[in-house]
Amino acid sequence: MSNLFEIKNLNMHYPVTDGLMGNIKGYVYALNNVNLDIKENEILGLVGESGSGKSTLGNCILKLITPTSGEVLFKGENILNKKKNELKEFRKNAQMIFQNPYMSLNPRMKIYDILKEPLIVNIIIDKKEINHKIKEIINLTGIREEDLNRYPHEFSGGQRQRIAIARAIITHPIFIVADEPVSALDVSIQAQIINLMLELKQHLNLTMLFISHDLSVIKYISDTIAVMYLGEIVEIAEKDELFNNHKHPYTEALLNAVPVISEDKKSKKIILKGDIPSPQNPPQGCKFHTRCPYVMEKCKTQAPEFFEISQNHRVRCFLCENHNIY
Ligand code: ADP
Ligand code: MG
Repeated sequence: MSNLFEIKNLNMHYPVTDGLMGNIKGYVYALNNVNLDIKENEILGLVGESGSGKSTLGNCILKLITPTSGEVLFKGENILNKKKNELKEFRKNAQMIFQNPYMSLNPRMKIYDILKEPLIVNIIIDKKEINHKIKEIINLTGIREEDLNRYPHEFSGGQRQRIAIARAIITHPIFIVADEPVSALDVSIQAQIINLMLELKQHLNLTMLFISHDLSVIKYISDTIAVMYLGEIVEIAEKDELFNNHKHPYTEALLNAVPVISEDKKSKKIILKGDIPSPQNPPQGCKFHTRCPYVMEKCKTQAPEFFEISQNHRVRCFLCENHNIY
């Protein structure tokens, strides 16, 4: 499978200014040298605690914010160098679904107009064609025709997320960033929306970056999983490999935090202690060393590389140094 995206050495350092003079007094190191490929037609799950940089990465990939440095290659071309008018095709092809369907839909617009808007932006103005496309998309997403005349506040959270999804795919994009798309929904509704996204992925041949702090959601939907900690990808592997043969102590800790029904009480478990350190003042060396039960002396001063321990499985941890296949 070829890569739809290649992200190279991506950094996002948000300046922190002091209130009065606006002088820069430091930076939030939200992304640090992120290298990541997204293969055509896969769902890449991105998981990590709140504040680890997941949304920042999603926003940089769509160029909704401009990173400090690095490259985002989409079909081999760096979109970060492109001007606004050159990005039109990219914007049509790459869409975002946000966490909060209450905030992402304009409360003063009827559903029909919400769905029409992206078509108009892409210069589809023939009324017949618009109606045809809207009909096609509501059938796909399970919205009823009579709902088109209603306003967002008349719907439940799950319905609203269906509408937000319909709006995102109405221009037939090939890539979607879904940033915690079910985190604001009741658990009973989450599975419906996730299944809808899986169906749409099949039907429209979508590639997806699916962001969630919830490993059980990520496990259900992803083909490949990337684990993020303090602005770095610390482990990436295909789903089964990540669940059955994870190597990074942070991945292990995240997995241990997922409640399981039959628990093997004898197994030694890493439980994360303390909060994630401030990305404004990240630890030296391995960023996870302050919380790692296996910490060694060199972890405190040296940053481990991203070791490739088998094909498509990379780990940023000195414990894997000797397993590096290169
Ligand atoms: P996640 O989505 O994993 O919770 P974010 O990408 O939202 O993480 O945030 C990563 C870090 O960057 C956090 O410490 C957050 O406070 C900080 N951050 C996010 N957006 C901004 C911004 N516009 N200005 C300054 N800091 C920001
Ligand atoms: Mg986020």
